[in-house]
Amino acid sequence: MSTQVYETAMSLFRKTRSRAHSFSQRISRTKRPLISTPCMLSYFLIVSIFSVQTVFAQSFPAEKIIQGGTILTMDPSRPNVEAVAVAGGRIIATGTMKELAPYVGPETQIIELTADQMALPGLIEGHGHYLGLGESLMMLRLADVETWEELVERVAQAAEVTPPGQWIIGRGWHQSKWKDVPQPNVEGYPTTDLLDQAAPNHPVLLTHASGHMSMANGYAMRLAGVDEKTTPPAGGEILHDEAGKPIGIFRETAQNLISRVQVRDEMRASAEQRLQRIERAVELAGQECLKHGITSFQDAGTSLAELRWLRRQALAGKLPVRLWMMVRDDMNAIESDLPALKSVGLGNDFFTLRAIKLSIDGALGPHGAWLLEPYQDLPTSVGLNTIPVETVERAAELALQFDCQLCVHAIGDRANRVTLDIFEKALASQPCPTSRRWRIEHAQHLAPSDIPRFGQLGVIASMQGIHCTSDAIFVIQRLGNLRAKNGAYMWRSLVDSGAVVTNGTDAPVEDINPFPSLQATITRRVNEDLVFFPEQALTREEALRSYTIDCAYSAFEESLKGSLTPGKLADIVVVDRNLLTCPAETIGETQVVMTILGGQIVYNSNELPNNLR
Ligand SMILES: [Zn+2]
Repeated sequence: MSTQVYETAMSLFRKTRSRAHSFSQRISRTKRPLISTPCMLSYFLIVSIFSVQTVFAQSFPAEKIIQGGTILTMDPSRPNVEAVAVAGGRIIATGTMKELAPYVGPETQIIELTADQMALPGLIEGHGHYLGLGESLMMLRLADVETWEELVERVAQAAEVTPPGQWIIGRGWHQSKWKDVPQPNVEGYPTTDLLDQAAPNHPVLLTHASGHMSMANGYAMRLAGVDEKTTPPAGGEILHDEAGKPIGIFRETAQNLISRVQVRDEMRASAEQRLQRIERAVELAGQECLKHGITSFQDAGTSLAELRWLRRQALAGKLPVRLWMMVRDDMNAIESDLPALKSVGLGNDFFTLRAIKLSIDGALGPHGAWLLEPYQDLPTSVGLNTIPVETVERAAELALQFDCQLCVHAIGDRANRVTLDIFEKALASQPCPTSRRWRIEHAQHLAPSDIPRFGQLGVIASMQGIHCTSDAIFVIQRLGNLRAKNGAYMWRSLVDSGAVVTNGTDAPVEDINPFPSLQATITRRVNEDLVFFPEQALTREEALRSYTIDCAYSAFEESLKGSLTPGKLADIVVVDRNLLTCPAETIGETQVVMTILGGQIVYNSNELPNNLR
């Protein structure tokens, strides 16, 4: 630890030149003239490490010390410690209580964990949609509806309280999770009749849980000018009944036919109303993250306009969690605007934009994943390629030119193969091809021969544990047992073949809560009767890595976060159980006791009113 403390001391002193936080200011006032001289530097080099530790500790007592319970650092050089000392937004020391005793000053706050509790690094959501999460908290949430009739009833209730003519928007429905197949239906999807009866005077737009499909009612289709003659845009599909009438189901790019009208109407709101809405989305998403122990959020695709606004918010210190952003926009606009917007660690390490996002296929649930062989349950289809391969190749060139990561959504085995081919070709020109840390988002279904290519090319498999268990039932329907066994959610095979696998929830596709996703990663248990190919499960340690240090690595942030190591950001979560020893089937029920972000307590369950605890 002494060495770690020494390095921390030096790193904190170095930061006095660039950082404005209070701790650095304190160092700056008292020490800068000394360390700016070569003789002081020599002094640091010759004094004993112990003296540095003691002098440092006594001069700069910790603001907080977390001790007791179990502390899991995720730092292989010192995985378990008794205490963590925090000051100036950083971890300044870890070790035994005795070793940290010199850091206790008159104003140090001691956070004593109970024997059951565990502290670990703040968790990192590896693939979510930050503004989408905030927006989802402001709309009808349909993830828990169990039947088509229940969904219709929720829309009817919303219609009662929404002024006629205004949009009713919702998200999260999934036909494969309903108890019964709706009647009548087309390919298992309901026709719009009941929805029209529930909301005859409102346009309704309900996005599928996957985000790759939408349902609209007749009013919305009339507003959008959609009828039996409408042809879908490339990469999209409109479902029709036997008479040729659109049933209100829009796949992939065809969703835009309706959503652009809804967005147009939203844009007619005053600038002030729009601003209020996005500010509220940022705030709600932040609260949702922090109460679940998420201190950093890797956002899988936001427009340039929204990024400009978020960047300003970061500079003004108004972001509630740390954001690592991928830009998703028109490729020409990215080419012209990204260089000026690209940012690393802006606003005290709250905003980084250094990645480009595209989607080469759709999702498996709505038969949009692009497959090498046809769907088992839809033999006429191999899914959808949603963006021309040339566009992905151009994005790869831009990513290299701008020194950005390239992140491609690929779910089907064909989408993954084509993406790996593009990566391999583009990276071949690089002096160190594996150092770019390009990512495949989801990497859900892989041809067995493509699995080792992730490790060989240094491509991150940015996966979501919870997708495995929540999709398991229809994965087998879509792919058949053999393809599911050999190619779906291949975490174990990927890790064993040298790939870095990260974790997340794709919020708002799934709930942002990381603990059910961790449990799914460790158990792959769907229900009493089904465990989805358990041989592909990860160990608890591996699963925790996928939510901490490996996720940090996937964003070039492993020197900043992902472990409780002196010098790193003081982002820490305290949970109500020991995640290494509690029964595996209870990991998903884990409650966050406290979330610390940059050394500040930003969520504390003990401060909630009794009825919310
Ligand atoms: Zn996503």
